[in-house]
Amino acid sequence: MSEEILIFGHQNPDTDAICSALVKQILNEKKGIKNTKAVRIGKLNKETQYVFDYLEIEAPQLIESVNEGQQVMLVDHNEFNQSVKGIENAKVLEVVDHHRISNFETGEPLYYTAKPYGCTSTILYEQFKENNIQIERKEAILMLSAIVSDTLLLKSPTTTDHDVNALNRLGEIAGIDINEYGLEMLKAGTDLDDFSAEELINLDAKSLDKNGTKFVIAQVNTVSIPDVLKRQKELEKAINDEINNKGLDLFVLAITDILNSNSEIIALGNKAEVIKDAFGKELKDNRAFLEGVVSRKKQLLPNIDKNI
Ligand code: MN
Ligand code: MN
Repeated sequence: MSEEILIFGHQNPDTDAICSALVKQILNEKKGIKNTKAVRIGKLNKETQYVFDYLEIEAPQLIESVNEGQQVMLVDHNEFNQSVKGIENAKVLEVVDHHRISNFETGEPLYYTAKPYGCTSTILYEQFKENNIQIERKEAILMLSAIVSDTLLLKSPTTTDHDVNALNRLGEIAGIDINEYGLEMLKAGTDLDDFSAEELINLDAKSLDKNGTKFVIAQVNTVSIPDVLKRQKELEKAINDEINNKGLDLFVLAITDILNSNSEIIALGNKAEVIKDAFGKELKDNRAFLEGVVSRKKQLLPNIDKNI
């Protein structure tokens, strides 16, 4: 059995999964537990990379699996099917999480902290406070980054008073403007520059068919609609290629502003005029701004489907 205790978040790690693992290691060290090590079980996304670049520190090491009997601590998840390969035969010493508890079983007693907060790092922040352990700039930035990410700068309906308080306090400790930093961080996560126009319109596209009328509703998230619209011509070419190749009647690309909860759509195809009936907006330059529209399932699809 390895002496080293590994700490990690879930697969396809987000900023909370990565940062909370590292913060948990720091908290352990400050409590005198020196043999724990934060690792990650997946690729860093662009948002999380922004945090590590900002701090000028290395991201936790990537692991693919754990051996039988490996001692572990889980953050930001508990379900074994979201965890590392081999977790069933590892020894879970502790869990710190803010999700439902499911697909989880241990052979031995453990520490388990579950709170229905907006972020795991908010739970960790409160553990620093409860233990009277000083929070330094590094862990303050790691925790506030996780909170910004999970709560979309406190705008997500999952946000609790605990998250609001933790984020504000951590901003003071770190001495940074939460909104300015948070916006830049979220923006880094929605950086679409590496994607070709064709990839971008297919990142999250749903193909639909109504009585032989074929249409697609695709969505990309952003914190700056104008940034995405800089590529409008290129996107339109990719959309028109898609329409011709697949015999589509309509292709709607929703560019969703995750901070202000609005979407700008680009609509092309012989049924593009349906947008007027669906949303009461005339297309101008193939575009329409839809205030308060963020959900494909609950807003875009039903209105388009009803009118097409
Ligand atoms: Mn997560
Ligand atoms: Mn989380």
